[in-house]
Amino acid sequence: MRIIAHLDMDAFFASVEELDNPRFRGLPLAVGADPDGGKGRGVVSTANYAARAYGIRSALPISKAWQYSEEARKQGKPPVIFLPPNFRRYAEISGRIMRIIRKYASLVEEASIDEAYFDLSHLASFERARKTAKHIKAEIKKHEHLTASIGVGPNKLIAKIASDRQKPDGLTVVLPEEAEAFLEPLPIRVIPGIGPKTGVQLLVKGVHTIQDAKRFGKDALREIFGKWGVELYDKLRGVSDSPVIEFYETKSIGEQETFAVDTLDSAVIITALEGMCARITAQLQKDGFTGFRAAVLIIRFANFDTKTRSHTLRAPASSFEVLRFETLKLLMPFFDRRENPHRMRLRLIGVRIEKLQKNDVVSQPTLIH
Ligand SMILES: [Mg+2]
Repeated sequence: MRIIAHLDMDAFFASVEELDNPRFRGLPLAVGADPDGGKGRGVVSTANYAARAYGIRSALPISKAWQYSEEARKQGKPPVIFLPPNFRRYAEISGRIMRIIRKYASLVEEASIDEAYFDLSHLASFERARKTAKHIKAEIKKHEHLTASIGVGPNKLIAKIASDRQKPDGLTVVLPEEAEAFLEPLPIRVIPGIGPKTGVQLLVKGVHTIQDAKRFGKDALREIFGKWGVELYDKLRGVSDSPVIEFYETKSIGEQETFAVDTLDSAVIITALEGMCARITAQLQKDGFTGFRAAVLIIRFANFDTKTRSHTLRAPASSFEVLRFETLKLLMPFFDRRENPHRMRLRLIGVRIEKLQKNDVVSQPTLIH
């Protein structure tokens, strides 16, 4: 029996800022780009719950957030406090939270700076898993003065959806036999991979909840979504076997190079790329990692416009050849109209690998009784 948990910190960046600045507590607060009096570019990273009451949420354009804040202020409500992110501080706290989780789980996948999947199958009981999850939340609260929400279920899919059900400070346990019924009333967009585009496609067909979507057979879903439709068929029924993989998401290895003169000479650019791929894969080994799962390419045009393109591999890789192949695939469109319609010269190229993996010596997890 698999028992998987997903932990998600509540409004993480904003909560850390509230913690570090007690005078902001209880006030609406948004971490993200500089609003610049409503003219700012960029987006909100995280809004606290008071700011969410104004309609401000992650990925909202910062200019929109400023507008909502102004509207609230005119109604006599407190304006939003806008803060730039302090990633170093968040990473430091994240590291300590991940260490707390690692005391109780043998396998931890750091999905992002404030999110982790972990395997509790060794407990062999959902009741014990609930107690352990409760204990982890309490330990985070005691040591870091922050709240987390945890979902526990028979796989990553259910755990992830469950962790979002009772935010903030939630704990939701879904037993294997309850998984299908748990999903049915939920909106279809809770399924990871259902983006706005897929959502619209389904909406046109009158599908709002997961239960609605279940009237489509495997063939119909394959017809609409291709291969992914078959995966979706299983997900709608709470079935997913994707493994918990040790990731070191917050760590990456990368390099970038500014060309002496802006260039679109493919020989020069590819030589630079190959050099970086060779040094990065050597560094990967030197740092004791066994592989990477994401390859990232950074391109800066002569006019300083910067593009980042990435690809996540199905299985981890560690070789120069794979990194070279993947980054070249990302680079090629910059030589033609796909990514570079005006044939602008490049000023800089960068390569980075992420989702690094290590084969840790698994220590005996602590048991909660
Ligand atoms: Mg979070």
